[in-house]
Amino acid sequence: MGGGQMERWHLTGCARAASGTNWSMASTVRLLMCPPDQYDVDYVINPWMEGNIHKPSRQTAASQWQALNELLRRDAQVESIPPHPGLPDMVFTANAGLAIGRKFVVSRFLHKQRQGEEEHFKTWFSKHGFEVFELPSDLPFEGAGDALLDRAGKYLWAGYGFRSELDSHPYLARWLDVEVISLRLIDPRFYHLDTCFCPLEGGWLLYYPQAFDAYSNRLIEQRIPAEKRIDVSEADAVRFACNAVNIGKHLVLNQASPELRGRLEAAGFEVRETPLNEFLKSGGGAKCLTLRLTEPEAPRGKSATTVESRELKLEGHLLDSGLLERALELTVQSGGSFQVLHFRLGKQRQSTSSAEIKVSAPSKEVLDKIVGQMIELGAVVGAREENDADLKSVTQAGVAPEDFLATTIYPTEIRVRGEWLPVRDQRMDGVVVVDEQAKIARCTLLRDLQIGDRVVTGSHGVRSVRQPEVREVRGSSTPDHEFAFMGAGVSSERRVELLVNQISWEMHQIRGRGGKIVVVPGPVVIHTGGGEHLAWLVRNGYVQALLGGNAIGVHDIEQALVGTSLGVDLKLGNSVEGGHRHHLKAINTIRGCGGIPKAVEQGILASGIFFECVRQNVPFALAGSIRDDGPLPETQMDLIKAQQEYARLLKGADLILMLSSMLHSIGVGNMTPAGVRLVCVDINPAVVTKLSDRGSIESVGVVTDVGLFLNLLTQRLSKLDQPIQT
Ligand code: NAD
Repeated sequence: MGGGQMERWHLTGCARAASGTNWSMASTVRLLMCPPDQYDVDYVINPWMEGNIHKPSRQTAASQWQALNELLRRDAQVESIPPHPGLPDMVFTANAGLAIGRKFVVSRFLHKQRQGEEEHFKTWFSKHGFEVFELPSDLPFEGAGDALLDRAGKYLWAGYGFRSELDSHPYLARWLDVEVISLRLIDPRFYHLDTCFCPLEGGWLLYYPQAFDAYSNRLIEQRIPAEKRIDVSEADAVRFACNAVNIGKHLVLNQASPELRGRLEAAGFEVRETPLNEFLKSGGGAKCLTLRLTEPEAPRGKSATTVESRELKLEGHLLDSGLLERALELTVQSGGSFQVLHFRLGKQRQSTSSAEIKVSAPSKEVLDKIVGQMIELGAVVGAREENDADLKSVTQAGVAPEDFLATTIYPTEIRVRGEWLPVRDQRMDGVVVVDEQAKIARCTLLRDLQIGDRVVTGSHGVRSVRQPEVREVRGSSTPDHEFAFMGAGVSSERRVELLVNQISWEMHQIRGRGGKIVVVPGPVVIHTGGGEHLAWLVRNGYVQALLGGNAIGVHDIEQALVGTSLGVDLKLGNSVEGGHRHHLKAINTIRGCGGIPKAVEQGILASGIFFECVRQNVPFALAGSIRDDGPLPETQMDLIKAQQEYARLLKGADLILMLSSMLHSIGVGNMTPAGVRLVCVDINPAVVTKLSDRGSIESVGVVTDVGLFLNLLTQRLSKLDQPIQT
């Protein structure tokens, strides 16, 4: 009789047991065990082995193993494979491979210390009539340690993250005709699926949810109803309560708390504890010491896996810049796994390297997310051959086709009919529309899409063009590189002065070559006494456009007209009687004049930032918000128009100075492509980090009081403006 048939017969027995019939027909379950003659902790390949080298007592281990063996014999036939010298972990037969029906997928161990076991297990299973399947030699998979059938044989839960590779799961699905559900392990103590997950008879599940990532927990919850999930505490998990052997209603395990035991009993199980602490020193318990040989074959035609893979190519200073490390790290962090198919190392310091990487993820959704991030890092989809981008037509104005590519701040190119086209008007959170005839690719906002526009979808034929990052421009300062330490990052207070020196130098250079500096100030600039300094910058040609909200206008003008900011006298630092009305008076006055330029013309507004803007012909845009008083006549309350105005004024900017306005700075950041120097000044480090964390080297954050910053900046610039004494 085939193993599958036997197990099904046994399950019928269980069903009867549940309805009260005597169900001790379990002798058809066959298990494989390996005597612990060679067992020891000889090396460290998991956190449990740490500090336990040669600690297990061979005698105690032998008696514990014997006790387990006898307990299991009550319900199953136990077969034995001889141990081999030099293979102390062979005792953990769960990792031999995965046996389903008469098929056996032999393990490919991740660690070389265990790879010697493969040959012995393969031989044993061939001799015992199994059809043996072998995975590619570089594709780790650790057998029933990481692959557990649900007890109705309907699908296979497969773990990855530490020992087994995600890419092994499609093989299991194909060879074993089974639906595979991939679960990602995230706690190194629970490095195999069977250390934290145990499907039980009757559709129950004993598991430790914290050992899995959120996506995997969602998958578990979708398949197993809440009332059938027995989640264990950390205390039970670390005693290997989930590493249990379940035969019928019996559950054999190392130890379970009274609370867990109670829950298992309430579910109809009988818990049989047997001490296995000598094996816990190696990171294994009851389940690890056994391999079920009589797993039922899944019903035919159910082979399925949601694992998807894509090949990507990365080029550049991959090692120097840490790009490869970042790319692989983000793959793993996001729940995927990778295989480096090919790597060519640039021989000279200046030459670039290239890598072809296969990225796999448990679902298309996760893969798309990873690939999107990889493209941001400069990867191209299609390692061996380049593909054209997929274009789909817009069928409803203002609505992009499903699966559209969302743009980033990084200069991007789109491959159309074999040619890479640079994307124009690069910005974040747009889509790319391609004119195939004119060979033009352009960043467009969703709301501007027209019927018939051809929009880039998916991730083929898309690449980000990253500035080559080399050792010198990253990391710590080197004396001969003026701006070396202006790499992305947040400054501490003591570095402010040094940073101001460098920013002022750069602003001076930009003004010298007729470049463009855009300032985005918030009203705090006025409250902190920075208004006069910002006005100085405008007057002296350091500002080519100014973007802000209603508040910066109102407070600057209040200050210019009555010397207060929100009713506080900036010179004396105290509130002025009736001052709370000052900002309304300011708004009213400007409205009375017909706008800011008119107020300047009429001599009513005679100082301040906006006075200087009018005098110096510096364009400004004020974008409205729900909390605005007034507003000033110039404040654009139609936000789409305001965004368009911002975008127009930002074009061609060399440096953007964001001064204590989170709202407007974030808006500006999204519209600005990488490559433009961003300087973000805010007293709150979290805001600075958010604004300057664009993953590009040209943004810098300064955590300080904005009034102080502007004061220092103007002092420094006026020094640079002084003629050199000869
Ligand atoms: P915001 O929250 O976007 O930004 C203020 C930022 O200033 C914060 O990040 C804060 O950490 C920082 N900050 C505070 N004190 C600082 C200091 N001493 N030095 C450096 N940074 C400091 O707020 P916002 O830009 O002030 O306003 C948001 C919106 O509300 C804008 O559109 C604005 O026009 C509007 N608003 C209107 C009025 C009005 O009409 N009277 C008044 C206030 C705000």
